[in-house]
Amino acid sequence: MGLLDKIFGNYSKKELAKIEPIKNKVLELEDKYAAMSDKELGEQTALLRTKVEETSLDDVLPEALAVCREAAWRVLGKKPYPVQIIGAIVLHQGRIAEMKTGEGKTLVACLAAYANSLTGKGVHVVTVNDYLAKFQSEEMGKVFNFLNTSIGCVLTGMDKSAKRDAYNADITYGTNTELGFDYLRDNMVIYKKDKVQREHTFAIVDEVDSILIDEARTPLIISGQGDKSTELYSMADKFAKTLKPVTVIEMDDKADNDLLDGDYIIDEKAKTATITKSGVKKAEKAFHIENLMDAENMTLAHHINQAIKANGVMKEGVDYIVRDGEVLIVDEFTGRVMDGRRFNDGLHQAIEAKEGVEVKRESKTIATITYQNYFRLYGKLSGMTGTALTEEDEFREIYKLDVIEIPTNRPVIRKDHPDVVYKTEAGKFDAVIDQIVECHEKGQPVLVGTVSIEKSEHLSKLLKKKGVQHNVLNAKYHDKEAMIVAQAGKYGAVTIATNMAGRGTDITLGGNAEYLSLAALQKDGYTEEQAVEAASYSNTDDEEILKAREKYRELYKKFDAEVKEKAEKVREAGGLYIIGTERHESRRIDNQLRGRSGRQGDPGESTFFLSLEDDLMRIFGGDRITGMMDTLNVDEHTPIQSKMLSSVIESSQKKIEGRNFNIRKNVLNYDDVMNTQREIIYGQRQMVLDGEDLHEYIVNMIKDFVDDSVNMYVQGDIADDWNLVGLKERLNGLLTTEDDFNYTPEQMDELDRNEIVSTLQERAQKLYEAREKELGSELLHEIERVCLLKVVDTKWMDHIDDMEELKKGITLRSYGQKNPVVEYRMEGMDMFDAMIESIREDTVRMLFTIKVRTNNAPQRQEVLKPMENHHNMNLRKRNKDSNS
Ligand code: ADP
Ligand code: MG
Repeated sequence: MGLLDKIFGNYSKKELAKIEPIKNKVLELEDKYAAMSDKELGEQTALLRTKVEETSLDDVLPEALAVCREAAWRVLGKKPYPVQIIGAIVLHQGRIAEMKTGEGKTLVACLAAYANSLTGKGVHVVTVNDYLAKFQSEEMGKVFNFLNTSIGCVLTGMDKSAKRDAYNADITYGTNTELGFDYLRDNMVIYKKDKVQREHTFAIVDEVDSILIDEARTPLIISGQGDKSTELYSMADKFAKTLKPVTVIEMDDKADNDLLDGDYIIDEKAKTATITKSGVKKAEKAFHIENLMDAENMTLAHHINQAIKANGVMKEGVDYIVRDGEVLIVDEFTGRVMDGRRFNDGLHQAIEAKEGVEVKRESKTIATITYQNYFRLYGKLSGMTGTALTEEDEFREIYKLDVIEIPTNRPVIRKDHPDVVYKTEAGKFDAVIDQIVECHEKGQPVLVGTVSIEKSEHLSKLLKKKGVQHNVLNAKYHDKEAMIVAQAGKYGAVTIATNMAGRGTDITLGGNAEYLSLAALQKDGYTEEQAVEAASYSNTDDEEILKAREKYRELYKKFDAEVKEKAEKVREAGGLYIIGTERHESRRIDNQLRGRSGRQGDPGESTFFLSLEDDLMRIFGGDRITGMMDTLNVDEHTPIQSKMLSSVIESSQKKIEGRNFNIRKNVLNYDDVMNTQREIIYGQRQMVLDGEDLHEYIVNMIKDFVDDSVNMYVQGDIADDWNLVGLKERLNGLLTTEDDFNYTPEQMDELDRNEIVSTLQERAQKLYEAREKELGSELLHEIERVCLLKVVDTKWMDHIDDMEELKKGITLRSYGQKNPVVEYRMEGMDMFDAMIESIREDTVRMLFTIKVRTNNAPQRQEVLKPMENHHNMNLRKRNKDSNS
């Protein structure tokens, strides 16, 4: 096996070989475009667009990439390396490019986006946060502007018209959250002009593992005000606090769990809380009910379940934090606060009750989609990240994406030391501190990764005792994140971070000139906003900003020289030293941490310090670890070397990765049921929005409604069995009056079913024709449109909420043999059919009865009135001034 084979999987190597000739073509074109004037180069876009129309994008790709490459060189002073061209080709092919941190993925996306924008159909570049979206779109925007290609950036809280402009641009930057919400909001508008997005043609997802895997467990939800009370949460919480929990590492299915001495069992491995018989008894007594498991007590049972989970399993500082009276989710993978997201299923409220903050009113889900299904909307999807290979299967199975590992521009010379394992956690932390002190003394910067905020703070305390100056970076200090991370490579810097905090920010050795300049500007009296504006590439004529920009440039020059000099010293000290303090559940996250060192051929080191008391070992290591604990005759400060340990760690991680994959698949399985339905409803909405003439459709609806009504009450041939009273009641005030169907027995004998149908059909038709005369065709057709949308939306929102309830119910009731997803699909289909029928009924009723004020001109407001509840929606992600 050659060296390449060893470093890269065979698959990537083969695929790279196929890409090689395209890359070479791009490189060969360098001279051609270098010879062009700026103007000429800028004009290439129009030429290439025509060429794409005449041939195909694949044919034009090399030229497009070469043009963009030359433009990046002229505008930004950065010439994309050959590996970056390969990355861009991989993206263009709709795959995942695995490229390490610092390889310049931002520029890779720029190349691929430019080439694909030539079709005129719009390209979305997806980032993990607003800061990155803004920064990248402005920097790369310079290149796009130069190439006469329009660029937009969608940010949280932007108004609709600004968003629409951004989406109409050739290339649009935005976060996964905002894009997903815009899609959902677009499917709630009444007029087509209110939509902001165009079609979903091509997306490039940056940090693709974070977005398509880590975030994929929590769907996007838009919620409206619900009418359910919140009192029960506090009651359930008070009750749960009286219960006695018992903690086990893993629940044993075969053992009789009720024999355990406790009211509920906390399973550390599965992160669940299960009530025992004694707990159930106490609940029945406390809430004065006979049987908690009765169907009528399902709501209470659900609240109690969530309360014991909140109290027994969910931990402050690990799973969530409380800030300003609000419970905020902490992403277990990134350590970030997930602003505006809430645990679903009432768990969030249960935690609010537990923490004694205001329990937010239970809201009603009115629109929802998973990231999986949102991103599957794109005709072509691609992504990039430093760490994708461990999740290759999932990308392939869920998104049909393959992962191509792209070699680094320069060889990685970072030294990854083997794990060092201690018997106790205390012993481990002592060793970590020693290592930090050792590095610190010779000026080698250290980045320490921890798995939780709690551990970060613990470590910080230990360092304080030693008098080592350091920065702590975790979800609680999210604002300054980028700034602190950027300085983590300074001579002698010590930075503690929860996993992957500050993703997307590059750690350059010696410090970061950009951030130093920013800080200096602020010291000079500029506000943070002004400073950022000065550092950005945004277009402006503002004198103040232009002046600040000049100042920024000067500062930058000065700091850049300083940083370069200091970088040399840091290199001599060994480069950035990465310390892991615990293995994460996923190997990918560990790799992510290591990868922050050794960028672009820099020196660096990494070591993971572990202990047998770490959660991963304790919970997933099983008996082998416990046995080892007992028999090992070492003190807590002696590291244990063991092959067995390494394999236990690796296999534990694989196990958890598999389990998490299953959790995500399960979320998806449920959403797939909804997705089929969502596609039907959104498709029909689109048809209405597109202004297709609905009149005929409505006339048929009326016919079906009459048929359905008769079928419901008039079955069989025997008139005596018919329920004419029922039929009359159903249609009363609409098509029938009290005087109808008052037949004598003799008349009944003569009665023909078809006659009833045709009489009613005729009445309906006449009535509707009369409406058309009364209102005029134009107005009636407008009313038809609005009524249909209004009814569809109301019913659909109720339906979504019902489906949520159904899901809760099904997961509660079916532990046994039945596959809950299948149950959910079947019952969900019935509910969907029932919804369609009731949409028909309500639309017809509304059209027959709606009153329109016709003093002079017809008043449109009156018609629109029922729609008003649209404005009561609030996003579960709190967009402060979004105008949905
Ligand atoms: P990644 O996202 O892969 O970690 P970034 O896109 O953040 O990397 O780029 C890291 C740094 O390298 C940035 O400062 C960027 O401007 C710089 N860079 C990227 N490509 C080049 C290039 N071809 N030449 C010079 N500098 C580059
Ligand atoms: Mg990046």
